[in-house]
Amino acid sequence: MKDIRTLSLEELKAHFLTLGEKPFRAKQVYDWLWSKNLHSIEDMTNLSKELRQALAKEFIINPIEVDLLQKSSDGTIKNGVKLHDGLLVESVLIPTLTRTTACVSSQVGCSLNCEFCATAKLKRMRNLEVAEIVDQVALIDRQSRLYHQRPLTNIVFMGMGEPMMNYKNVVEAIRKITAPQGLGMSPRRITVSTSGIPKMIKMLADEELRVKLALSLHSAVEETRNDIMPFTQKFPLTDLMEALQYWYEKTGSVITFEYCVWKGINDTDKDIKALIRYARQVPSKVNLIQYNPIGEGKFDHRSIEAEQRYVSELTKAGVTVMVRRSRGGDIDAACGQLANKAAE
Ligand code: SAH
Repeated sequence: MKDIRTLSLEELKAHFLTLGEKPFRAKQVYDWLWSKNLHSIEDMTNLSKELRQALAKEFIINPIEVDLLQKSSDGTIKNGVKLHDGLLVESVLIPTLTRTTACVSSQVGCSLNCEFCATAKLKRMRNLEVAEIVDQVALIDRQSRLYHQRPLTNIVFMGMGEPMMNYKNVVEAIRKITAPQGLGMSPRRITVSTSGIPKMIKMLADEELRVKLALSLHSAVEETRNDIMPFTQKFPLTDLMEALQYWYEKTGSVITFEYCVWKGINDTDKDIKALIRYARQVPSKVNLIQYNPIGEGKFDHRSIEAEQRYVSELTKAGVTVMVRRSRGGDIDAACGQLANKAAE
């Protein structure tokens, strides 16, 4: 049976006409599905019993299910989320004093091959549906209200997968999350994180979604970046910069560079200078993110000494830099650690 959430509002309206129902009924159903995140046709109480029965004969709603919930000592919650076909993704709730951030997945596994990332090692791969992305947001919102007595405040597409490789569904999910007839969240509180596919960055800039962009850079030295993120061989840093400049021109929104410092990989003065030169070409800031080991020897532990050199040199050069502490590491919920470990 068809999932009713694959229908647009227009398609729902057209369908209701064939059932001899008024178009406003379609709006009521749409509201249950996308604003209230209801997962049962039976519970759409403002529709007649007959209409609910007729719909239930034709359509299903495929909800996501929490398969495993793990709580970190720092309040981070990692959800192992089961999809209707049994595949798993992970969705993380990250609390701070004033915010709750949902870190959501866009794909099962990932089609890219960053050597330092656990998700890249997963073999099974598929894109998430629009509803599967929206459901993760609604889930974390409910958990935030339950465990932290406040609604969800921020969303980052930093879970499993590369959002730009599931472009259409990610954009549609963002529209549903931000629409007043959807979850009604502010786009300014949504960050799309990408490993950097220039053409797609430009496309996203043209959507006028008003979301923020984070770019996983990790090195501004071409050979080094090609080495640790092999897919970038197709996307030279100059093309990437051109796309980032386009992004800024179109959106006026400052770009965040995500960057891990590794001993023996990007810890020299040459690496730091390259980053300064790169970051200065577009309004941006640098987040130094703590590396979470995934058992890949080459990416030994982080170099705190080099990290401090980065901070002082970037600051001296007038580049805004922040050191991000990692959250949820004790339950493998941190960046790059999402790999269904508990399910194996
Ligand atoms: N594919 C997207 C979003 C998912 S990854 C992207 O690449 O941006 C979210 C962030 O975690 C990225 O910046 C990624 O480079 C980083 N990351 C991956 N593995 C990591 C690890 N083991 N430790 C710390 N950060 C990691």
